[in-house]
Amino acid sequence: MNNLLHSIRFRLTLWYASVLALVLVLFAASVYVFVVRSLQTNIDQALQGYGRQVTQVAGRTVQGGHLNVNHISMPPGVRREPLAVVIMNVEGKALRVQPGHAGPPYQVLRIAIRSGKQSCTTLQATGIGMRHEPIRVCTTLEYRHGRRVGGVAVAESLVGVNRALERLRLALILGIPFALILAGWGGWLLAGRALEPVERIARLARSISSSDLSRRIDLRRQDELGRLADTFDAMIERLERSFAEQRQLTADVSHELRSPLAIIEAQTTLALRRSRTDEEYRHILASVQEEVERMSCMVAQLLSLARAEAGEEPVAMEPLDLLSLSRAVVDALEPVARERGVALDVNGDAVLLLGDSARLRQAVLNLVQNALQFTPEGGRVAVTAGCRGRQAVLQVRDTGCGIAAEHIPGIFQRFYRVDPARSRSTGNSGLGLTIVRWIVEAHGGEIEVDSQVGGGSTFTILLPMTHQPAPA
Ligand code: ADP
Repeated sequence: MNNLLHSIRFRLTLWYASVLALVLVLFAASVYVFVVRSLQTNIDQALQGYGRQVTQVAGRTVQGGHLNVNHISMPPGVRREPLAVVIMNVEGKALRVQPGHAGPPYQVLRIAIRSGKQSCTTLQATGIGMRHEPIRVCTTLEYRHGRRVGGVAVAESLVGVNRALERLRLALILGIPFALILAGWGGWLLAGRALEPVERIARLARSISSSDLSRRIDLRRQDELGRLADTFDAMIERLERSFAEQRQLTADVSHELRSPLAIIEAQTTLALRRSRTDEEYRHILASVQEEVERMSCMVAQLLSLARAEAGEEPVAMEPLDLLSLSRAVVDALEPVARERGVALDVNGDAVLLLGDSARLRQAVLNLVQNALQFTPEGGRVAVTAGCRGRQAVLQVRDTGCGIAAEHIPGIFQRFYRVDPARSRSTGNSGLGLTIVRWIVEAHGGEIEVDSQVGGGSTFTILLPMTHQPAPA
């Protein structure tokens, strides 16, 4: 019962019925007042019309400034005689009273003649035809040459009209609750139908767990509930994707850690099997250290990415020159390039912008390191800084092995390697480009790749430029 009282369906129906009740009561009251007024107007017009006709007939017999009437003849065209008619001269002498004891109309006419104001009024009459009933009396005054000569009061019983009004009242009083019950029942059914999808959404939400996010509401409606269901479906889809990504990440990290751990385990087992020379121990420890460094580098990169995704890695915005920053990276990697037999150079114009120099240096470093790694001896890696419209452009171009088109969408994903065996052997984590993309996006920029197998690759970073280089 408590549940029912708190249900939207019940409250909707209650609201609907309350508003309807108010509307019906207002409507019934207006109809009643309108009917009463129009009936009264009709009666008043009929009585005044009758009075005017009588005064016209009576007026013909004005003698010496007075009405002189001996009888009241029924005006032509009148189907039914009124309840009472009184004709009076200006001195208040009743010239004709029909029926004989029409006291109330008589009194009303006396007052009207004295005050000179004709009007219509409702009275409780006693004494007309020995009856006790509500009557309507209208007075009409008669003038001759601008002088009041007398008047006529015409009365009609309101019994019939009041009975009709009583029936109307009864019909309205009984009709409103009946209409309300009917409308409330209809409202209850309609609210139930309208809210049925909400119940479906609630059922589905209850049945969804983290292990089964494949279900959808799929309401296929264009209305508000359809939009709610679509939003809900989109939210579940995002959740499903993020759970899948989480599972994938856990699997990838475990996979990545497995080989260095296996190497460490193998090396230590080998070292402990028998006693070794100092040289052998040093060799084994150096190999273990290398694996540990690789793992801690990977963990640090992962941590940094996780913080970045959680919005916890602040990006400083300081003025910097992209060309100088690239030159510093090239200088640092020059020995590596020389060792690999790859020409490495940097050129372009000074490009001033606001950014985080440490992170942008990291991005350029990752790109140049990749380029050096995938470019064979005798090849060339060129770093260029410049502007394109209102954007700063940094390009790292190499003459290396290139990337097949089907791999390009994947290379920015975590742990993605075009050639896993080769990359692992060189100690790369598969996180380099993921970090580059995050850094570029954190600066409001974007990264593009243009590559052909055997034809080299070009990585282009586009950054919004806030400072134009000063003219030379
Ligand atoms: P990693 O640190 O293992 O190099 P990255 O995220 O930096 O990982 O790169 C992902 C993959 O993209 C690499 O394994 C490599 O196959 C490919 N790749 C990146 N840069 C280049 C490049 N300049 N030339 C060819 N392949 C590249």
